[in-house]
Amino acid sequence: MKTLFTANLRVLLISAVSIVLVFTGVVLLCMNSLYYETNIRNLRDTARILLPLFMKPGQDPGPGMVSLGDTPYRYTLIRQDGMVMADSHLDASGDIENHQERPEVKAALAGREGSARRYSRSLDVPFLYVTLPVYDSAGNIWGVFRLSQHVPNFWQRIASITRPFLFLAALVTLVAGGMVYLFSRSLSRSVNRLLGVAQAVTDNPHGLAVRSSAQDIKEWSLLERALCGMAAELSSRISQAQAEGRRLETILNGMNEAVLAMDTKLMLHLVNPKARGVFALGEITGPISLLAATHSTELEATAQQVLIRKTAEELHITLHGAAGAQHFRVFAAPLIADQDQIRPEGVVMVMSDITRLVKLEQVRTDFVANVSHELRTPIQLVKGFSENLLDTPLDDPVEIRHGLGIMAKNAQGMENLINDLLTLVRLEDERIPRPGMEELDIGSLLEEAFEAVSLQAKKKEIRLSAYGPLGLTAQVYGSFIIQAMINLLDNAVKYSPPGAPVWARVFTTDAALFIQVGDRGMGIPGEHLERVFERFYRVNRARSREAGGTGLGLSIVRHIALMHQGRVEVESHAGEGSVFSIILPREPLENQDTR
Ligand code: ADP
Repeated sequence: MKTLFTANLRVLLISAVSIVLVFTGVVLLCMNSLYYETNIRNLRDTARILLPLFMKPGQDPGPGMVSLGDTPYRYTLIRQDGMVMADSHLDASGDIENHQERPEVKAALAGREGSARRYSRSLDVPFLYVTLPVYDSAGNIWGVFRLSQHVPNFWQRIASITRPFLFLAALVTLVAGGMVYLFSRSLSRSVNRLLGVAQAVTDNPHGLAVRSSAQDIKEWSLLERALCGMAAELSSRISQAQAEGRRLETILNGMNEAVLAMDTKLMLHLVNPKARGVFALGEITGPISLLAATHSTELEATAQQVLIRKTAEELHITLHGAAGAQHFRVFAAPLIADQDQIRPEGVVMVMSDITRLVKLEQVRTDFVANVSHELRTPIQLVKGFSENLLDTPLDDPVEIRHGLGIMAKNAQGMENLINDLLTLVRLEDERIPRPGMEELDIGSLLEEAFEAVSLQAKKKEIRLSAYGPLGLTAQVYGSFIIQAMINLLDNAVKYSPPGAPVWARVFTTDAALFIQVGDRGMGIPGEHLERVFERFYRVNRARSREAGGTGLGLSIVRHIALMHQGRVEVESHAGEGSVFSIILPREPLENQDTR
């Protein structure tokens, strides 16, 4: 590859030599034409002086010999028809060619002064001719007076100065060549210095160490300084862009929303960690389409819609994965980098996981439906029996008593439901202030619970027994623990046959406090065990209602256990009895709320 120096040198040298040659050529041509022009002018002046010698005053011109002596001139007198009437060097009576067509003769016959230059091959010298029109006494053109002279060839004439001239031209070429060499070297040095600076910028993109080299030409120095400035500016912009990129990456990585950005062909070029998790993309790094990544035609259609309409779209989608149904609110917007851009360069999707919200909403709807359902039966019964009573004759005490009994039982059922609902609300509503945890004697709490169920137990002749160390204390929400104990004891009594034993046991391990309630009642078939702690779940709906149950007791117990960062367990066999356990950690985190 050529260097700047050699390329420059070659071009400039060729240019310099060409300029010298062209200049020399032009000078010689000018000198040549000046040489002949001067000679013709002199010849014409001479012709003007000589012409009157051929004219006799008051007469027409005519042939006649006038001797020009030993001069270099030759004259010719030519009549209008081109006939040579007299010639200083030829015998006019001889056979002389008609001169009418000679250009210089033609010009004079037209009334102008003519001139011509012709080369005599025999003498090897150029001849110069000038012509003047000759007028008769009447003032008409009679003919032409021609004066000619041979002059030395221009090149022969300047032969003596050719050598110095060529020497001068060679000297000029040499000097020009030297200057060209110096110029090329200086240019290539400056460019090389600049190249050094540019290389330093490339090697060190942060540009901090790039310094100006010592350029001795102002413009080069300015250019170099501009380059250094540009490098510094570039470096600061790169740093800014990198910082911006890192900030954006941190935000994207920390976002709880799944973010997907894609081009117009819906090929993903940005997937944040949350999105990778949602769509189980693992460490896939190659190009992947939206459809291949999400398997959602709904998302694909939305992205296409955004590209066509160029406006944002919002929708809810449900994805069915290994973890079950997941609900998302999707916000899809066109990706427009430049405000003047007409066509979006892609689509960005932000997906918020609203599974919990949807589930909560479902729970709320189910809850309202369940409560309504639970209330409808007792209300209908109360309404039916009260209407019945109105029609019952007052003297039928048996019927009246039966009706009132049913009404009272259903009213009690409704009251139980309302109480349980209120307890649930107290447990769940964060706005209701809750008393703090206290170190309480668990035996005393159990005693209070026993008292609450003693009447029912007595009715069924059920003996209640308690086991556990005396003086066992724990950090608990007292009233809630009593409520949980009552619920378990109440169930044990409710679902045990008359006379069966019901017991409660309290004990501790290293890590936990156990509160157990056991019975030898009807027990719970295995397939229901998983669900008995759900709200309104009953193994036997009619039996529960009959016993005044609401279907909320065990869910309240679980809630209370969770409130103490504990849990509930049940062990039961149909027809053999059940054992329910509330297991509380020995050192619950007081401030942790589990609502
Ligand atoms: P309920 O008000 O109906 O008793 P719970 O939430 O307290 O509601 O209990 C849910 C269901 O679990 C009951 O309907 C009953 O079928 C079953 N159950 C609860 N405790 C016992 C128990 N000790 N023995 C047998 N079944 C029980």
